[in-house]
Amino acid sequence: MHETAIVAGLLRIVEEEASRHDVARVTRVRLQVGLLAAVEERTLTGCFAICAEGTVAEGAQLVVETVPLRCRCRACGRRMELERRVFLCPDCGAMELELFGGNELVIAALEVEPKEGGRTCPQNGPQPSDS
Ligand SMILES: [Zn+2]
Repeated sequence: MHETAIVAGLLRIVEEEASRHDVARVTRVRLQVGLLAAVEERTLTGCFAICAEGTVAEGAQLVVETVPLRCRCRACGRRMELERRVFLCPDCGAMELELFGGNELVIAALEVEPKEGGRTCPQNGPQPSDS
């Protein structure tokens, strides 16, 4: 299944990031998905919930955001951003659009909880001033 592979790759990145930044738990993952990535949001979040069990992202919320697709009309040259899969030029009605990207799948942000006992705010003692 398409989504399983995506989630597996996603979790690998999340775990890498988490270990690099000394994170106890990931609470939310924001994912930006291109309009053409053909990802079913509900399948993705459901799959994520199952696959994240036992990982640092267990119980984390997966937020899927669709990225507008940049494109250009081949007929009139107008540039636009599509937010739905309706490939029509709003100006001239042509269906010949040149598409830029649309397959991206990017982690936009991770919300995390720092490790307990870890120093979240390093102590900055008064600097010795030599005057
Ligand atoms: Zn056009």
